[in-house]
Amino acid sequence: MNYNSTRNNDLKATAAQAIATGIAPDGGLFVPENVPALSIFDFENLRKLSYVDRAAYILKLFLTDFTDEDIAYCTKGAYENTFEKNQPAPLYTLNDNTEILELWHGPTCAFKDLALQLLPYLLTTSAKKVASGKETVILVATSGDTGKAALEGFKDVDGTRIIVFYPNDGVSPMQKFQMCTQKGENVSVCAINGNFDDAQSAVKKIFTDADTAMLLNENGMQFSSANSINWGRLAPQIVYYISAYCDLLKKGKAVDKTGFNVVVPTGNFGNILAAYYAKKMGVPIKRLICASNSNNVLTDFLNTGKYDRNRKFYTTVSPSMDILISSNLERMLYELCDRNDKLVTDWQTALSNNGTFTVTDTVKARLDEIFYGGCCDDEQTLRTIKETYNKYGYLCDTHTAVAVSVYNNYVKETADDTVTVIASTASPYKFSASVLSAFGESAPEQEFDAVDMLNAKTEVVVPQPLSDLKKATVRFRDICEKENIKNTVLGYLNIK
Ligand SMILES: *Cc1c(COP(=O)(O)O)cnc(C)c1O
Repeated sequence: MNYNSTRNNDLKATAAQAIATGIAPDGGLFVPENVPALSIFDFENLRKLSYVDRAAYILKLFLTDFTDEDIAYCTKGAYENTFEKNQPAPLYTLNDNTEILELWHGPTCAFKDLALQLLPYLLTTSAKKVASGKETVILVATSGDTGKAALEGFKDVDGTRIIVFYPNDGVSPMQKFQMCTQKGENVSVCAINGNFDDAQSAVKKIFTDADTAMLLNENGMQFSSANSINWGRLAPQIVYYISAYCDLLKKGKAVDKTGFNVVVPTGNFGNILAAYYAKKMGVPIKRLICASNSNNVLTDFLNTGKYDRNRKFYTTVSPSMDILISSNLERMLYELCDRNDKLVTDWQTALSNNGTFTVTDTVKARLDEIFYGGCCDDEQTLRTIKETYNKYGYLCDTHTAVAVSVYNNYVKETADDTVTVIASTASPYKFSASVLSAFGESAPEQEFDAVDMLNAKTEVVVPQPLSDLKKATVRFRDICEKENIKNTVLGYLNIK
């Protein structure tokens, strides 16, 4: 199967090329030429498999230039013995019709691990196939969790270097500590004075800058991306929605006739886009509920058809969703306008020139059929953490709480009692101070004292990877201005 750019149907690439380069040379995103459909027979097979084997089964459909051995090597490396209890994506039953899809049992305690444990394998395998022989430089802009998950996935991987930029005041203390203590000889971490959108825009610009590409080329290097603009990030995320469907069936939930809803706390639109692809492949997802925090650009977009990033940017208690430019929406729009590359290009040009665009009535009608968009502010987020804990004894993190809150509103509004899967994207211990404040407690200054306090209060077990960090030492303290990201990158790579 081939891939093409969302901005040019004639710009083709193999899966290996798409993954090795990360972003299309015209600034578009790579998408598969067609989305494979799963039959009843496929689901019968998938149900019986372990997570690793489900991943292999599904990835094979998308990565047709990978051999079976390649795929097995990648999926085993990524998912065997790296997740707690060897269960990368277990379902936790909250009540009769609500299941929590816990995606944070990996090495960095956020859902990004599901994709970023696999991506280094996909990328190095792809690089071999593309046969460039070049060192791959992974550039990451992070709103907190991607950075750490990418560092952990790529640390000391032969033939790769990784450089991470994060907004200095836009991540939680635990997220910062996780990144700044990162081990590995091929890693660099730098704070920027700016927000996530600044970091992401600067990084995207470096990717498509011809001069920089040439400089790297002369030095035997080549950029790639570990952000969800890389198809190699998206494909692994489709797997867990298909896996969740299989597990619902195993639990005896009658979701075949009615379908089920999926709620996703959303930032860059990667996670929910993966759920959309799963739906397109045949998973009976009825409604995709897109949950945002106060940066509710997507809620407004889904309600009006007008995307408008010209608005106040809020720093919230769910920092990984503090985003106003949701990159992966481009892939969604491309699918919904029947792969009209010209339209997508116009919208993206308008977005970068004026910060806004409006979709056609046809696309808006399709969005209405598939999505529900909702948002909640910090106060509601914190109230939801407390209420969910008091009612069910279940402690969720701030991002998951946004999803739970939006879902509760959705049920009030629609009285829809369809079985619903809520994606839970991080461990509450990555945001201890905020979670404590939900219970009216003010957190101690030291991060690990806050962790201990939350643990004492709730008796919820602290994930091993976070408690292990207590002994780690800080290695990275660099800060740069957003205008200087390019020079900082060249500096880390020793290119003059
Ligand atoms: C990245 C992240 C999100 C947002 O996911 P997108 O794929 O960017 O929409 C939500 N919650 C957490 C904890 C995250 O790390």
